[in-house]
Amino acid sequence: MDREQKLKAQRETQKRYREKHRDKVRVANRKYKKEHKEEIKGYQREYHKEYREKNKDSLYDREKRWRVSNPDKVKRQRERYFKENKDDIIQYRKYYFQKNKKRLAQRKKEHRTSNPEQLKKEHDRYYIKHKGEILDKQREHRNNHPEIKRAYGRTQCLGLRENKCSKCGSNKYLHFHHTDYEKDEGFTVCAKCHKKEHNKEVIL
Ligand SMILES: [Zn+2]
Ligand SMILES: [Zn+2]
Repeated sequence: MDREQKLKAQRETQKRYREKHRDKVRVANRKYKKEHKEEIKGYQREYHKEYREKNKDSLYDREKRWRVSNPDKVKRQRERYFKENKDDIIQYRKYYFQKNKKRLAQRKKEHRTSNPEQLKKEHDRYYIKHKGEILDKQREHRNNHPEIKRAYGRTQCLGLRENKCSKCGSNKYLHFHHTDYEKDEGFTVCAKCHKKEHNKEVIL
């Protein structure tokens, strides 16, 4: 008898035994499972991992198809997962952000410059949503700085603002940037360049 035949015969014997002593086998199996719970779990995990590794592509496709056809379930799953792991997720996000700060900022910047329309849409949405707050803040700022308020008034009266940004030449959203509020000194800038001017001051 060769090895193959031997094994086959062994399996047959085992099968017959199991059929004959079904209850006994069940009890023994249950006992074994209970006693070797962790071991079995580890083994299953290992097997599962191997199986996934081997069938990566087909599994991925299948999961993707499932996700596409069950958006509600996916949403619920995500929500549940987030709820259960909230602290960990937030912590990880913070960690990830800190670790990749420079790269993320760079990507955001690139995305913005390559999608100016989307950026404008975002700004508009933000403005509509926070209009009240923004106007309040502006008013508060003007009230806290009467010298600026007066200077703005004089800028309009004196017609200091020209029709073109002195930095980039744009003729849209023009402001007058004061280098000295009391002396009405300054130059015309577009909103974008104006922001840059003030950021310069903060950095310096
Ligand atoms: Zn400009
Ligand atoms: Zn200014």
